[in-house]
Amino acid sequence: MKRIKSVFTIVATACMVLSCASNPYAPTNRVHKKHTKELIKELEILPPPNPGMGSSLKYAEDWVGTTNFNLRKPNIVIIHHTAQDSVGQTLKTFTLERTQVSAHYVIGENGKIYHMLNDLYRAWHGGTGQWGSNTDLNSSSIGIELDNNGSDDFSPLQIQSLLELLKDLKEKYKIPTANFIGHSDIAPTRKNDPNKTFPWKELAKEGFGLWYDEIPEEKVHVLGESKTLTTEIPQEIRTEVNDSVIVAKIKAPISTPILDVTPKVALKIIGFDVSDMPAAIKAFKLHFIQAEVNSTLTDHDLKVLNNLYKKYL
Ligand SMILES: [Zn+2]
Repeated sequence: MKRIKSVFTIVATACMVLSCASNPYAPTNRVHKKHTKELIKELEILPPPNPGMGSSLKYAEDWVGTTNFNLRKPNIVIIHHTAQDSVGQTLKTFTLERTQVSAHYVIGENGKIYHMLNDLYRAWHGGTGQWGSNTDLNSSSIGIELDNNGSDDFSPLQIQSLLELLKDLKEKYKIPTANFIGHSDIAPTRKNDPNKTFPWKELAKEGFGLWYDEIPEEKVHVLGESKTLTTEIPQEIRTEVNDSVIVAKIKAPISTPILDVTPKVALKIIGFDVSDMPAAIKAFKLHFIQAEVNSTLTDHDLKVLNNLYKKYL
């Protein structure tokens, strides 16, 4: 029996050594485990058993611990592109302590998912940012990094894996549809990820993030040429002849506001930090327009904004 035991110990040790040798991240995994142990110790600290110690707050003399609680859960998902050349480079970055950056998940171009951190811990992926009145996004969000050099398209396999992961997270933590956003949304002055090829519309169709309704383009013939109208013309002053709309009867310019509120109010309602409006407009266009990503709002952009902000009300 003793012999069997010692053979088993040798085999087990050999397996461990081999596994360590085959996983280049074994040393940083040990750092990870050590760190989780330290955090668990922190969680075990009870509220002051001797109330008032070291605090000027007027605590009650007897400590009363509630019997009803569990762990806090993430409520937002923030999507990033890595802006690095390979998934290996990103894994390296997230395992070097000096970089001070991390994410819960990294998804490679081939669709492989690296789950680097328990969802209940706080990863360092958002940095300084704001969404609505939330200024500590790292505390409430899950960070997902997509391996991408910052400008290329995202691969279909990668998006497929992302959608499957989002489905899991949405169900598990009951994350609201509107709370699937990008890094550029929360940090318009600093970030531009995920890049403008990211399929936000496809994600919204699957229930991850909001999207606007199709904006119809109205074509009319003006002086023999086809032109796209940028403002609504009241029906009563239009006359139709041979399928063409005659606009000659318009006596005065029509000014129908495209946006019911100011752009600043609309962007604020959606969640953008509007303290730097050009940056906020650019972030809005990167997410919802994805062409000519600049700080100018065209009539089309205003129509999108008008349709979209109401979905966030
Ligand atoms: Zn990012």
